[in-house]
Amino acid sequence: MRMEREMDQFKAIVIDRDEEKKQSVAVKTLNQSDLMDGDVTVQVAYSTVNYKDGLAITGKSPVVRRWPMIPGIDMAGTVLASDNSDFKPGQEVVLNGWGVGETHMGAYSQVARVKSDWLIHKPEGLSAKHCMGIGTAGYTSMLCVMALEKAGLTPDKGPILVTGAAGGVGSVAIAILSKLGYHVIASTGRSSEEAYLKSLGASELIDREELSGPARPLNKEKWAGAVDAVGSHTLANVLSMTQYGGAVAACGLAQGMDLPSSVAPFILRGVSLLGIDSVMAPKAKRIEAWSRLAQDLDLSKLESLTKTVPFDEAMQAAADIVDGKIRGRIIIDIA
Ligand code: NDP
Repeated sequence: MRMEREMDQFKAIVIDRDEEKKQSVAVKTLNQSDLMDGDVTVQVAYSTVNYKDGLAITGKSPVVRRWPMIPGIDMAGTVLASDNSDFKPGQEVVLNGWGVGETHMGAYSQVARVKSDWLIHKPEGLSAKHCMGIGTAGYTSMLCVMALEKAGLTPDKGPILVTGAAGGVGSVAIAILSKLGYHVIASTGRSSEEAYLKSLGASELIDREELSGPARPLNKEKWAGAVDAVGSHTLANVLSMTQYGGAVAACGLAQGMDLPSSVAPFILRGVSLLGIDSVMAPKAKRIEAWSRLAQDLDLSKLESLTKTVPFDEAMQAAADIVDGKIRGRIIIDIA
């Protein structure tokens, strides 16, 4: 089935590299024949800037694994054409991850062709713009919250720590957890963002320096659980300060990929370390996470933590996220 008004020519950001493997990034005009195989064609309305998009566009880490590539791991838009009866032209859809923007042409494009298995219908109660305000970062925050709940965490068990608090994952996690009634402690390196973090629902702030050095095997118990977007020494310290029977959801590596910890928190305090991956998460879990986001995220807080930029500012925003200059979440207006 096809919509009458298809976009044959459209704008996209394209990452390429030359024979010496030097990367270039430019806005180009493409045709639909430039896209890769897929059974659904989407007119993209909004995308967003995640840390991974920043790495892809700046070339700072090997995120892109096929050239040329259109970056952008998140999209919200409308079905233009579909060979799958679950997705009809005109319906609004959302996509997060699945290698889009890494191995499959991504979201920084007015038109995308993708596999229907990767799409979900836009959740009720959220606009396409809200969905990209949330993006992979916010949907990962919800995966963390769901994992902590499954491990038995409830607001009465004690405070919950959020690391990387002023970033995308951290900001959305604070907003969700405070709405659910948790006492949220925000760990940040940006004390200037105290008013922002408290407006999202943080009750207390700690300086990220307190958690960034080498950890003792066990330390004073300070929280019942945590959402950790930082990894490395920070995660080791978070574990060593988690109270008996608590749980920590690990989703990020802003400080580093290492984990210089010991087994002490696990075998002496029964602490659980919960691994969170958003990219290949099964569809049922994604649908649950998005429906929880529609229910448990205060939309006025979401709007206060997002900024929208036009398509031609996407490359600058991608560089800024890698430099740690972005607060909360950036939406890209693709249309
Ligand atoms: P952002 O860049 O928006 O936020 C990261 C935050 O981490 C920063 O804002 C900063 O917070 C803090 N931070 C940065 N550098 C350091 C450092 N050296 N030491 C301690 N803290 C630091 O990124 P996102 O929120 O989008 O992503 C966060 C992490 O989660 C990334 O590593 C990303 O790759 C990962 N991720 C993983 C996913 C998964 O599927 N597992 C999905 C999405 C993201 P502050 O200024 O408050 O200190």
